[in-house]
Amino acid sequence: MENRIKRLVFATNNPHKLEEAKAILAGRFELLSLADIDCHDDIPETAGTLEGNALIKARWIRDRYGYDCFADDTGLMVDALGGAPGVMSARYAGGEGHDSEANMKKLLAELEGETRREAHFSTVVALVIDGREYTFEGRVDGKIATEPAGKNGFGYDPVFIADESGLRFAEMGAEEKNSISHRGRAMRKLAEFLENY
Ligand code: IMP
Repeated sequence: MENRIKRLVFATNNPHKLEEAKAILAGRFELLSLADIDCHDDIPETAGTLEGNALIKARWIRDRYGYDCFADDTGLMVDALGGAPGVMSARYAGGEGHDSEANMKKLLAELEGETRREAHFSTVVALVIDGREYTFEGRVDGKIATEPAGKNGFGYDPVFIADESGLRFAEMGAEEKNSISHRGRAMRKLAEFLENY
């Protein structure tokens, strides 16, 4: 039974993230989304760190639904803002969150006149499998632009210029972005771990 396909939940409702993960983890694992396991819970992300929030999500699924699971949490850390928006990245401009336009507008306003533009994205993936917990981190360094540009991606992509390419994430294709992005890096670490599992 060594090569039996194992079921693993990716605690996400984002179809784009799920497809990305399937492409990276295809083969030994059958990946299920939250919708696939009929989970529509509003999982509380109350930890003060990316790692803490990723672990909350993965443990929630294991404890309540009984599946081995991994979950991710991402933040944009801006040096001149003392690491903000950080764990608050989705809800930076307040409200329910995930209003990218409002979040970017607030970020650019906070950095008005600021010459220090250094920032990084960080993703932590938490894996809960066979009763053990593991975390994997991915990071990409860059600068916050003074105005948005580019049509691709989501979130802060139009204002994040990656040091490695000199382009904003929103100006890159999906493959190019994945090859250097925080989430791509963390997911590849997860894939490497699972390949040897
Ligand atoms: P999440 O943990 O993946 O939901 O990310 C939290 C927030 O960080 C999102 O709502 C976005 O605002 C931002 N974010 C995460 N990943 C990216 C990215 O690849 N590009 C731009 N913004 C991102």
